Amino acid sequence: MIEVSQKCIGCGKCVPVCPFAAIQMMEKKAVINEACTLCGACVQICPVEAINIVREESVLKDFSNYKGVWVFVELSEPEDKASAHRAAPAGKPQAEAVIEGARKIKPVTFELLSAGRKLADELGQELCAVVLTDKNRAYEKELGALDADKMYLVENPEFFEYNTDIFSTAITALVNRHKPAVMLYPATIQGRDLAPRVAAALYVGLTADCTGLAIKDGLLLQSRPAFGGNIMADILSPNSRPQMATVRPNVMKISDPVYGKTAVLLREEIKIDKTLRRVKVLERKITREPGALKISDAKIVVSGGRGMKTKEKFKTLEELARLLGGMVGASRAAVDLGFKEKTRQVGQSGTTVSPSIYLAFGISGAVQHIVGMKSSDVIVAINKDPGASIFNVATYGIVGDAHEILPKLIEALKRKG
Ligand code: FAD
Ligand code: SF4
Ligand code: SF4
Repeated sequence: MIEVSQKCIGCGKCVPVCPFAAIQMMEKKAVINEACTLCGACVQICPVEAINIVREESVLKDFSNYKGVWVFVELSEPEDKASAHRAAPAGKPQAEAVIEGARKIKPVTFELLSAGRKLADELGQELCAVVLTDKNRAYEKELGALDADKMYLVENPEFFEYNTDIFSTAITALVNRHKPAVMLYPATIQGRDLAPRVAAALYVGLTADCTGLAIKDGLLLQSRPAFGGNIMADILSPNSRPQMATVRPNVMKISDPVYGKTAVLLREEIKIDKTLRRVKVLERKITREPGALKISDAKIVVSGGRGMKTKEKFKTLEELARLLGGMVGASRAAVDLGFKEKTRQVGQSGTTVSPSIYLAFGISGAVQHIVGMKSSDVIVAINKDPGASIFNVATYGIVGDAHEILPKLIEALKRKG
């Protein structure tokens, strides 16, 4: 709340400093309207301390009944009929093969479970997976192998594909019922759509696109790039539960699965009103070749930056990638120069990759690029500048001209057969 006291002498100094035009002079007294955001700029300028902002004391709430780390399980969407037809394994009835092929647990879920396990252990609480699906396909086994203690399952024909209204309603109901301390979502198209809806419905905070998670003083420490990726911000949500975060795919390492371990299956009933569905998917079009690899799934990525100089020279990377059985990636500078399409951009505003080998040709190693590839197992950097930042994260560094090294590497691989 903001108020102007009797001390106001009507000097008018506060009027121009308000960035929201919330102050007017009326009868030689400052009057503040509802456009005020309580930014405090006018308080500083007033020569007679006539403006007071009274902030509500944040009341320390008791969250001791909120327990457990929850992970939203993302399933693949039903594919279009054409690609599903091609995907049907030999000997399987077509209809069954289509359904089975359509609803697999996406790998990002396993990344979240691996990170969630560490958080749960640190808190001394359970790790739970949440599955909303039209049909359970023994998901508890796969989730148990990644060390989930429990699987909350809501089975309903309405979950045959992702829908914002239906899924957010169900998750909100589950959270209200069981009160988890932490809830993690993948920072995928689905997770980025779902998590804010749930956060708004529960009136809790949400940290988007986290690249690091830890526990600090019993709270979830959520780290994410801020100010264009130039700093890392550590965020805590002490005043609301659950503490919610989305996590970028390919950032967290997947732990080794322990096959044979099964998560305890807990079936949940949630009434789903069909009329909630405001959007109907009439057709799905896959813009890439069905079955074609995405750069986020590639085991070897050969990336190039501005140092590749021209589109023609950049194309040499294709040959190396082909010989290695990998895919070509690019820095944003290379994409902006038209060397490669945007879908291959690696980094903060592109895709996060985590291949076994990442080769970087003529890439300086700006922080926005590094966040998108630093969890690769082996990083090989080729740069003519020995001071390039990319060498700080590289496993192996070659100081030299990419245009000399690249043909030699290709030649050597060809000789090897
Ligand atoms: P440069 O920084 O120009 O580096 C070129 C490098 O090539 C230099 O190190 C140079 O020494 C080397 N070189 C030159 N000639 C040769 C040669 N003959 N042989 C070997 N080496 C050579 N960037 C991303 O990549 N991905 C992102 O997702 C991304 N998102 C961003 C989001 C925001 C909000 C912002 C502000 C920036 C983002 N950027 C991103 C841009 C990023 O800051 C850098 O500008 C970009 O990564 C630089 O690309 P580069 O390394 O190819 O080019
Ligand atoms: Fe304007 Fe900020 Fe003062 Fe509110 S607190 S009246 S927004 S300057
Ligand atoms: Fe009144 Fe202070 Fe504003 Fe001057 S600056 S008009 S004294 S509130």
